[in-house]
Amino acid sequence: AVHVRNAVKSFDGVRVLDDIDLTAPGGQVTAVLGPSGSGKSTLLRTINHLERLDSGYVSIDGELVGVRVHGDRFKELGERAILRQRARIGFVFQDFNLFPHLTVLDNVVEAPIVTQQVPRAEAESRARALLARVGLAGREHAYPRQLSGGQQQRVAIARALALEPRLILLDEPTSALDPELVGEVLAVVRELAGSGTTMIVVTHEIAFAREIADHVVFLDAGRVVEQGPPSAVLDHPQHDRTREFLGKVT
Ligand code: ATP
Ligand code: MG
Repeated sequence: AVHVRNAVKSFDGVRVLDDIDLTAPGGQVTAVLGPSGSGKSTLLRTINHLERLDSGYVSIDGELVGVRVHGDRFKELGERAILRQRARIGFVFQDFNLFPHLTVLDNVVEAPIVTQQVPRAEAESRARALLARVGLAGREHAYPRQLSGGQQQRVAIARALALEPRLILLDEPTSALDPELVGEVLAVVRELAGSGTTMIVVTHEIAFAREIADHVVFLDAGRVVEQGPPSAVLDHPQHDRTREFLGKVT
């Protein structure tokens, strides 16, 4: 499970995460919803330690992220230890973030070879299997610019899986896509959701969240307004802010 406890993060004096407490159950799918600017991306970046919290902490399967306990305070981990932790977390970005100068196959094998010293032949055979899983067998030697947005995002998902992560974070994986390409990416995420990896997905696709999420968190202005099973948060929201948000997007 992922635990976020009393997480506070400010930018320029504005609290973007304002005392966040949430739990993303292990082996399950947590969907994070909320209006633009509510702190969803910052929350994901915090879990990956791409952003450092001002106070509070994140733990994954009981291990603190980015820090260790030193006496009665937290002390930042060294860069190598942070990279080691980050290598076990797959991150899928809204805008794919593929390496443009590398082929599809090289995008997927890069991290296992560089950060985990997996031999190239083994990394490539694993990458081929992952690319087949996301429906891209035969496109191994294409460059990102030769692919559609939906295909690029599926490469990004294969790349995130290549490190056999214990947690996968997806930040609005379909929001940069043309409408006709959304379905193919959601299908891959849906398949992933059934695989028992702990997943946190930020999405504006309410119907999709209802379908795949075990746990839903609604954020507003850096606070958790409510969280619980989709049947509660999406179908019987307790707070006006949640009702208003769901009314707007559905
Ligand atoms: P969206 O749905 O538009 O992606 P979000 O919920 O992901 O929104 P965040 O990207 O987490 O929101 O941003 C929350 C707030 O923090 C915004 O007001 C944003 O401008 C601010 N913010 C985020 N990152 C930084 C940064 N590095 N420096 C300054 N302000 C930032
Ligand atoms: Mg965002």
